[in-house]
Amino acid sequence: MSRFWSPFVKDLVPYVPGEQPKVENLVKLNTNENPYGPSPLVVDAIQAELNDSLRLYPAPNADALKDEIARYYGVQQSQVFVGNGSDEVLAHIFHGLFQHGKPVLFPDITYSFYPVYCGLYGIEAAPQPLRDDFTIDTADYAKPNGGIIFPNPNAPTGVGLPLAGIEAILAANPDSVVVVDEAYVDFGGETAIALVERYPNLLVTQTLSKSRSLAGLRVGLAVGHADLIEALERIKNSFNSYPLDRLAIVGAVAAFKDQGWFDQTRQAVIRSREALSAALGERGFEVLPSQANFVFARHGNRDAAGLAQGLREHKVIVRHFKQPRIDQFLRITIGTEAQNAALLAALDTLL
Ligand code: PMP
Repeated sequence: MSRFWSPFVKDLVPYVPGEQPKVENLVKLNTNENPYGPSPLVVDAIQAELNDSLRLYPAPNADALKDEIARYYGVQQSQVFVGNGSDEVLAHIFHGLFQHGKPVLFPDITYSFYPVYCGLYGIEAAPQPLRDDFTIDTADYAKPNGGIIFPNPNAPTGVGLPLAGIEAILAANPDSVVVVDEAYVDFGGETAIALVERYPNLLVTQTLSKSRSLAGLRVGLAVGHADLIEALERIKNSFNSYPLDRLAIVGAVAAFKDQGWFDQTRQAVIRSREALSAALGERGFEVLPSQANFVFARHGNRDAAGLAQGLREHKVIVRHFKQPRIDQFLRITIGTEAQNAALLAALDTLL
């Protein structure tokens, strides 16, 4: 801190991302990255773009990518917004689509960036308790609010909310924007994108960081009514005219074109998740039903912080949250079969 810091900066509580230690010799299962690489078509497309064109600004509207996403989801280009990771898309949503002066509702156990954005933009955060089984109680989302956001499936639990629940929340809130953060939807959840035609208050966000294995490229998107998208464009254009760099645009387009790679790798993650959940169950863990590329698990009689530390000594990194109610859980990203086997072998020396 220095005397040059404004009171605003002094009061900021920023998001702390999971650690990114050097990957060599580590089984890195802490930040929900995809253990399989991106499609080779993505790498080819980015390599082809590494030329003199880099001296030129990228397309201000990222039209090529928006067209591809619109085609992929069967919507109009005017219903698509893109940004540097869904984190940036979410920042614009909190900044300009949520009504300031009213509480924004989200689950009390959820993505920890939501309260950070509330702090950044001076919005009242109103966390709503999850049920005992970690599901969302849709009745909690019928009170007056300035906006609603939840991941589906939720993070860090992996627990999904069926579309009927989402519809109930949308119908109860015709005057506020409801954001469904589908960062993990491709691993077994149900996308709400089909509902955007019927609910002008629905915005669905997704990311290429997880199911398309492009966390390093930073591409996220939102799909919703054209009026909501236009509002996001206004905010973005008051902040940075170029949503994505040239490499991100061509890489992301290629990712959507390689449906075979996408299906093959996400199915492999889903299969590994089911096998890992069963193996953890055999070792005395309660594993929440996950629709994501991670599992959230607690051991019947072993302390989670101690297990996380013990795993670290075996070079296996998982995530542990020091938050009430979930501090006995470990969040374990699904790795390759070999990584999952290494995790289990390390656990077997600790249990
Ligand atoms: N939403 C949720 C629920 C997440 O877990 C994450 C990843 N940490 C994000 C959004 C942001 O992902 P990205 O910025 O990489 O698109």
